[in-house]
Amino acid sequence: MQYNGVRVELFVDDDKCQACDLCLANEMCHFNAFKRVEKGEKPFWDGSYCRACLTCVMACPHGAVIKIG
Ligand code: SF4
Ligand code: SF4
Repeated sequence: MQYNGVRVELFVDDDKCQACDLCLANEMCHFNAFKRVEKGEKPFWDGSYCRACLTCVMACPHGAVIKIG
């Protein structure tokens, strides 16, 4: 996605993600860009909500939010 000229592409690495749900909490991503279909599933990143602050990349305790662009 692109926001105010800043472009970022992220994904959740399922091999690293421990489904701790921290990224689903508003404190980690204020824009609710992490989603989950079913409880207990690992979350995924929805770039249409992302505002490119990169907080999540540093805040995920398992290094599972990966910046690819
Ligand atoms: S904060 Fe990191 S480890 Fe926890 S659910 Fe989100 S991506 Fe997975
Ligand atoms: S970069 Fe910021 S807005 Fe985008 S998903 Fe991460 S915490 Fe949310």
